[in-house]
Amino acid sequence: MLNIVLFGPPGAGKGTQSERLIEKYGLVHLSTGDIFRANIKGETELGTLAKSYMDQGQLVPDSVTIDMLRSEVVKHESPRGFIFDGFPRTNAQAEALDVFLNELGTGISVMLALEVEENELKTRLLKRAEVSGRADDANPEVIEKRIHVYNQETAPVKSFYHAQNKFISINGIGSIDEITNRLFQEIDSI
Ligand code: AMP
Repeated sequence: MLNIVLFGPPGAGKGTQSERLIEKYGLVHLSTGDIFRANIKGETELGTLAKSYMDQGQLVPDSVTIDMLRSEVVKHESPRGFIFDGFPRTNAQAEALDVFLNELGTGISVMLALEVEENELKTRLLKRAEVSGRADDANPEVIEKRIHVYNQETAPVKSFYHAQNKFISINGIGSIDEITNRLFQEIDSI
């Protein structure tokens, strides 16, 4: 299986690039943010819980997120692989993912980390707010908080994959096509 962690700060382009990758490699796209938003829309208990964190720019607790991700993964019978978009966001999530995939007889092939500097992220998120309808994109304070949480809790996950020789940094600045091609090149050379 080809299992990719598509990593990066909020606004790095993970969702956009995931669409391109699933098309080319026939992978299942699992975005924890999308799943939480679907639950909010469906007014589920999980949605109500997730919303209380998302609206503040904070992470949904690990236990909740890990259980949810696990139940999504097992829904797919013999997939070619997965793109994990927005997961793992903490070292505890990364460790749980390893254990879980190992139980299924597979593992993470690579982490592709989109690198974009902070000012560019803020500009992109505010622009995305105009079309995404996401409250967490429209509020500069929440954006600030999400970037802070990324730097504090999520960026360290890079070291986790680095230690396993699975970390690849990708320049996330440029046109969407340019960035897609950089990702294709790395995946094709695995
Ligand atoms: P995203 O769509 O990836 O930008 O995620 C939007 C929000 O959903 C985040 O700011 C978090 O509040 C929550 N979220 C998404 N993925 C995770 C995760 N792996 N762990 C904890 N919270 C998450």
